[in-house]
Amino acid sequence: MTPDQVTHGTIVTFIAEIIERRGADSYLGEPVSMSEHMLQVAMQAEAEGADETLIAAALLHDIGHYTTEFGADSFDCGVDFRHDQAGGQVLAPYFPRPVSDCVRLHVAAKRYLCAVDPTYFGKLSQASIYTLRLQGGPMSAEEIDAFELEPHHLDAVRVRQWDEGGKLPGVRTPAFAHYLPLLERIVAQHKSMGAATGEG
Ligand code: FE
Repeated sequence: MTPDQVTHGTIVTFIAEIIERRGADSYLGEPVSMSEHMLQVAMQAEAEGADETLIAAALLHDIGHYTTEFGADSFDCGVDFRHDQAGGQVLAPYFPRPVSDCVRLHVAAKRYLCAVDPTYFGKLSQASIYTLRLQGGPMSAEEIDAFELEPHHLDAVRVRQWDEGGKLPGVRTPAFAHYLPLLERIVAQHKSMGAATGEG
């Protein structure tokens, strides 16, 4: 399937095909592959009884590492290209706001947690400490205020905490296919709500 064929009806299959092809890619500097990481993060959300939207956000939070698969025109790939922003952008047309917001804010949530919780830094992996510096380090007081005004910031914080816990080699997880019905349900609900309100 090519990016221009993606609709509400095909987005989940499109994502599943990307993960099938590229899930074994290494997760930069971590001892797990991209798909192992995604599945470990989703599994923690599920184990905590999180809402389906949050499980989907956990599963897809790093989809921004694959935005080249979505076609160059589908997102802003300027000099400020970042996987969190790009991921939120590619999901936004198909998934409800809490999902795309959690994806968009999962790096901000790391910077937030490092600023408000002095013990949080100790929970980061070496690779995540390295990227924290590139991402701007812990938030300033002004950035904290702005982050707390985001309607889904608390959900983004939860996704971030699972993100930290999803980097362990050898953990048994469900297969990606386990989450397909959940993703299909969320996309279908979002589409019907969009139809009801006249939005796309
Ligand atoms: Fe991650």
